Amino acid sequence: MKLVTYLFENSEFIGILKEDNTIVRIPYFKDMNTLIEELDNEGWEKLRVLKGKEGEISLSSVKLLSPIPHPRQDILCLGLNYTDHAKEAKQYSNEAFSSDKAKAIYFSKRVNECLPDGGNIPAYEHLTHRLDYEVELAVILGKDAYDVKKEDVKDYIFGYSVFNDMSARDLQTEHKQWYFGKSLDGFCPMGPCILTADSTSYPPELRISSKVNGELRQDGNTNMFIHDIDEVVAELSQGMTLRKGTIIATGTPKGVAMGMDKPAFLKKGDVIICSIEKIGTLTNRIV
Ligand code: MG
Repeated sequence: MKLVTYLFENSEFIGILKEDNTIVRIPYFKDMNTLIEELDNEGWEKLRVLKGKEGEISLSSVKLLSPIPHPRQDILCLGLNYTDHAKEAKQYSNEAFSSDKAKAIYFSKRVNECLPDGGNIPAYEHLTHRLDYEVELAVILGKDAYDVKKEDVKDYIFGYSVFNDMSARDLQTEHKQWYFGKSLDGFCPMGPCILTADSTSYPPELRISSKVNGELRQDGNTNMFIHDIDEVVAELSQGMTLRKGTIIATGTPKGVAMGMDKPAFLKKGDVIICSIEKIGTLTNRIV
């Protein structure tokens, strides 16, 4: 099931996006955060009934927002979580990106608002000359997770989305901690929908790719994680409660601009298309 948040006549709604690109409105919850927080077995049943109904409105007549426009907390991110990307990052800056891979690298990313599919990313020309993209699988938790065993993690997954972990490489490396360079407004595009966890196998094995101005840059599969979803949720939840609605960005495959022989960092007018099989595509322009 694909869940979306959208604007219609200036009001925000949530709905189920059907295969024929029509939407059935979900009336039971005021927004996606509330749906994730309150959905119980009965709620799931109601959603399944709604999914069987005719769409009420076409996708083309609404404005899509990010499925979770205002996450309750910052995004939890994995750094260097694909072997081939870890290698290209290290070549770019050994000091900033050296890693022994034994332990996962965790960092957080400020999010005031997730940009939707079609949203514009500011170029911040006064702040950065090394603007980069990172397509990532976003994992959204559906239950509060504390001290969860690896074998139980799959029961905590609400769904998945396509995420672009936008990064200002100069800010990221100059400041030692990555937080500032990852956290500018507009650096959290996520969409176009949430694919609920029951809609794909677990762990998800999905092709993940990105294009810049039509040129294929990244092309991997979510089965290539160094630290997989089970390990990450089990490890973090040993000592911190991961609230339902938590978004985990699971790292990016090789092919980002900083990994190129002549890094083609993003500039005004560039269009980035991030895609994950079964979930959809997320298109954003630098302005
Ligand atoms: Mg990343």
